[in-house]
Amino acid sequence: DVRISENVTFSELLLSDNVLSGLTKSGFYKPSPIQLKAIPLGRCGLDLVVQAKSGTGKTCVFSVIALENTETGSPLLQVLILAPTREIALQIHGVISSIGQDIEGLSVQVFIGGTKLSEDKIKAKRCHIAIGSPGRLMQLIDLGVFVTTNVRLFVLDEADKLVEEGSFQSQINWIFSSLPANKQMIALSATYPELLAEFLTRYMREPTFVRLDPSQPSLLGLKQFYLVTKPCSLPYIMFEEKTQHVIDILSSVSFQQALIFSNYHSRAETICDALNHAGWPSTFISSTLDQSQRIEAIGKLKQFKCRVLISTDLTSRGIDAQNVDMVINMDIPNDWETYMHRIGRAGRFGSRGIAVSVVGPGAEEVKLHSIAAKCNASISALHDVRTLKEL
Ligand code: ADP
Ligand code: MG
Repeated sequence: DVRISENVTFSELLLSDNVLSGLTKSGFYKPSPIQLKAIPLGRCGLDLVVQAKSGTGKTCVFSVIALENTETGSPLLQVLILAPTREIALQIHGVISSIGQDIEGLSVQVFIGGTKLSEDKIKAKRCHIAIGSPGRLMQLIDLGVFVTTNVRLFVLDEADKLVEEGSFQSQINWIFSSLPANKQMIALSATYPELLAEFLTRYMREPTFVRLDPSQPSLLGLKQFYLVTKPCSLPYIMFEEKTQHVIDILSSVSFQQALIFSNYHSRAETICDALNHAGWPSTFISSTLDQSQRIEAIGKLKQFKCRVLISTDLTSRGIDAQNVDMVINMDIPNDWETYMHRIGRAGRFGSRGIAVSVVGPGAEEVKLHSIAAKCNASISALHDVRTLKEL
């Protein structure tokens, strides 16, 4: 969940020093929500079914558990990780090698088809963590290249894909029966289809399910704030004050690109003019523009020809720009899904972003608090825009 992960660091998960420093060197400082939930359970030795959509950081979950389970004093295989494709196997290898970089004598190897068996035999001589395709790993175990008596952890990454391919099922069955009975098993998957559930019940006795609520996008690295305008009964004065706040925010925060949301077309257009006038080259997009104008506006943002794009919700879903790291809400949306959707534009995984909502006192403030409660987000009050400078 969004709130917990903002305040917890990996150092609080009681990991060994080597793993902790490897995480830091790999740029992993704070656990993502799924990591926060699953790593402690996995370290207790429980069998896990970890289900969370792609991009939530599942690789790091089993990488940390695998590394914490490895004794480098012995050359024998201790962790076996199956992946459905060679690209995924190589990717996992990269992550484990990076997080394990400070573990002396550690050997992490990839075994995928298409390479010489003789090379694999050499690599297998000293291999603590093996990652590979089911076919090649089965072959190596069958040939006696791997001694499996010390395998403590068996991981199925992208378990839904591993199982959906009919051919892998029998290979996984075979590998499973070649491993010691008392091993831990972790299956990770973005979906949990019936076929996978059936398959896993054959192997896991009482698995612990770790799931993320799919309606909550993970917004690690995104800081959320709100700013309340002065009490005022006249809408246009409130609008002017909000406009001034937006200009102050743009001037205080060092951002790459910003998206500003309004609930109304006319206001979006007005603030666009005001920003251009104040020296912030801005573009406006709304459903009142025709298709080619909208494409042009988004193109400008993507090509860095404008730093600020003002949008209404009707067009927000088409916007996917890598460098957007700030979202400003000029008006509070009516539902929490829209709020999450808007701020998610700046919350690409792992990247730092900031979201500021400018609200009027009273009703709008209440609306924002109710949204925060519904999406379990912590949105901090800002008393002075200048405090953003220090972030
Ligand atoms: P999944 O397997 O759930 O699809 P990945 O494990 O491939 O997700 O992670 C997605 C991206 O998030 C990767 O680029 C990874 O480096 C990054 N990532 C994962 N965990 C963290 C973290 N705790 N801090 C920062 N970045 C992370
Ligand atoms: Mg993955």
